[in-house]
Amino acid sequence: MAEKLGVYICAGCDIGKSLNVDELVDYAKKSKLASITPVVKHSAVLCSPEGKAEIEADIAANGLDGVVLCACSPRVKWDIFQFGAVQVERVNLREQCVWSYKEDPKVPNQMPLIAKDYIRMGMMKLSKSRVPAPEMPETFQTILVLGGGFTGLNAALEAAKIGKDVVLVEKAPALGGKAATMYKSFPLSAPFTKAEDTGIAGLIDAVNANPKIKVFTSAELVSLEGAPGLYTATVNAGGEQKLEIGAMVLATGWVPGDKTFLAPMGYGSIKNVVTASEFEAMVKAGEIKRPSDGQAPGVVAFLTDVSLCVQGAHAGSAEVCAPIDPLPEAAPAGEPEVVAYPSKESAKHLAYSSEITSLVALKQAGYVREKLAGSMAFVLYDHMMVPGINERYYKTAQDDAGIMLSKATITSVKQDADGGVLIGAKDTLLGADVELKADLVVLPTAVVPVTAFEPTLNLVYRQGPGFPDLEMFDGFADSNYICFPYETRRTGVYAAGCVRQPMTMATAREDAAGAVLKAVQCISSANRGVAVHPRSGDMSFPVFNFQRCTQCKRCTEECPFGALDDDEKGTPKPNPTRCRRCGTCMGACPERVISFDNYNVDQIGSTIKEVYVPDDMVAGGPRVIVLCCENDAYPALDMAGFRGKSWSPFVRFIPVRCLGSVNAIWVADAISKGVDGVIMLGCKYGPDYQCHFVKGSELCSRRKTNIAESLGRLGVEAERVEQYEVSIDEYDKVPGIIDRFMTEVITKFGPNPFKGY
Ligand code: SF4
Ligand code: SF4
Repeated sequence: MAEKLGVYICAGCDIGKSLNVDELVDYAKKSKLASITPVVKHSAVLCSPEGKAEIEADIAANGLDGVVLCACSPRVKWDIFQFGAVQVERVNLREQCVWSYKEDPKVPNQMPLIAKDYIRMGMMKLSKSRVPAPEMPETFQTILVLGGGFTGLNAALEAAKIGKDVVLVEKAPALGGKAATMYKSFPLSAPFTKAEDTGIAGLIDAVNANPKIKVFTSAELVSLEGAPGLYTATVNAGGEQKLEIGAMVLATGWVPGDKTFLAPMGYGSIKNVVTASEFEAMVKAGEIKRPSDGQAPGVVAFLTDVSLCVQGAHAGSAEVCAPIDPLPEAAPAGEPEVVAYPSKESAKHLAYSSEITSLVALKQAGYVREKLAGSMAFVLYDHMMVPGINERYYKTAQDDAGIMLSKATITSVKQDADGGVLIGAKDTLLGADVELKADLVVLPTAVVPVTAFEPTLNLVYRQGPGFPDLEMFDGFADSNYICFPYETRRTGVYAAGCVRQPMTMATAREDAAGAVLKAVQCISSANRGVAVHPRSGDMSFPVFNFQRCTQCKRCTEECPFGALDDDEKGTPKPNPTRCRRCGTCMGACPERVISFDNYNVDQIGSTIKEVYVPDDMVAGGPRVIVLCCENDAYPALDMAGFRGKSWSPFVRFIPVRCLGSVNAIWVADAISKGVDGVIMLGCKYGPDYQCHFVKGSELCSRRKTNIAESLGRLGVEAERVEQYEVSIDEYDKVPGIIDRFMTEVITKFGPNPFKGY
């Protein structure tokens, strides 16, 4: 616990103009923590060199072990306000009091009360905080790369380049993966106008020649046991061996999607309709031939859309295209293997396309021009997607007189009597409906991640051997696309390449490097006892008071990252290096067994108790506590304050690591203290969640239902506790959310019936 506090009140940034800082200093000196607070001061500009020097001098002279800095948001100047082992609590008087203050004419002059509440809350919070003692295990440094295709080879070389030993495990007898089956790649280098050799042979040679990379082919990862920095991988390559591994890059790539969904476009019934994968194999083998007669086609049409419009024009926003039914038979006789999906659910047709479809069509149209003199290629697309530098590649195709590009809605694909294929199209760039005759038609191949078929990674985790909820993402390794691109739900396992999302080889090469860097960072973080993102550098980890544990398993089940195993009785077994310090386990535990040194149930509960609640709501105004997620909600509030937005003066904000860490007891304590309402402000949840800890905000919403039932039993309206979703860029919504809650809930229901007890 922080036992000698210094409290500093800044007068800069409008604070001194709006608040009487002398009065606040006197107030803090008389607080109930006065006996452990030898220093209380104000400063003209606390973040100035003089301000900081004064704090440092006080720390040295008085042996302070904690300082409460009542100034601006903790999200700014954090680099200035660091004092070694001395704990720092930032009280946000600027954004959450002075800059966002809104006068209520019925209950005016609230600003000093807000400031005093926050000062008390900050002092209490710090007094209940300990400096975390990190666990710093010796970590293994070797990186396991699973998958020896283009991405995996690049990942292995990148890791070796920075001095790491690498174990590369490939299930096929040879390295190279899909890239080895390709004739060329989209442009990989400047000027980004030409298809290029994939370079796969050179990559394989480089990997085989690299003494830091140990290659296992025809090999299987039998199990990955342990935790980041401390894994034991069992690899079977004609005999099992155990390897010490620090972190893993998952680069298992993709397989072609189920071709039966291409039936409406003639696949399976018209011989000269092939997939892009089949066409690529044909070119790689040396010749472009019509399957029907082995003749070289004069006209090849590439269709990028796999839905056939059969009922006329799209009317306004009404979708009239026919749904795609799979073929009754799995595949036409003699055709290459059709991949069987593992379940009916995942066999559904993906309702989206990606840039890959467009780029493959452009690349393969180029093959036609390269390999067949005098031939023509048609590319008929619904959406041509060539983001970024690939626009140049598209322009090159556009400039080729032998490649005809047109937007088109395909209305029919029919067999012609002479073996040709008739394509009906409307809404073309020509304006007219057209019928085009091609000798060969090429349809897109869906990029389906290997994890859709092989969801198990043979991880030895209590929560299962693979990643949860893969189906939600069509089998792609869920990696919270925007914030943490390589991340998976298992700390220490980083996904790269097409197992993560469909991507070009140029992007996959960057992905490989990115995932390796994350793996390296993870090993290093595990070794230093600190969390990886999003709480990078956090030394705390959950501590369990096992005497009180009832083995209810809630924490083990709800930890989003599989950080908690359990023993045969159900007692949790923490794996600190898997943990991301979100506190979801702490929020889950009904017995309050779990705590962090610097974030715990008692600490936040005590902070809530410091909010002054007037007995008379009419004379003193209501009180609402906002438990706000530090990741998006808190920054959104800061941005709102920074932009001069304001809201009810009767709310008090308490940051939480994630809404998943909110323990129901905090809400119960607040309500029993007479607080009129509790808002939980956090990230979006559901299928397209934005929660930085994956399911924290979703778990909070489920727990809210239980809280509502408990409130109902006590005769308190369930509406007094509400959860709202907000993202960092929705700062302008925050005042509306708060003020609506004040009118629609607090004004409507009046004072909390517990008030005054
Ligand atoms: S819930 Fe969060 S804090 Fe708790 S063990 Fe899991 S990752 Fe760590
Ligand atoms: S939630 Fe709490 S009581 Fe239940 S198993 Fe986990 S630590 Fe024990």
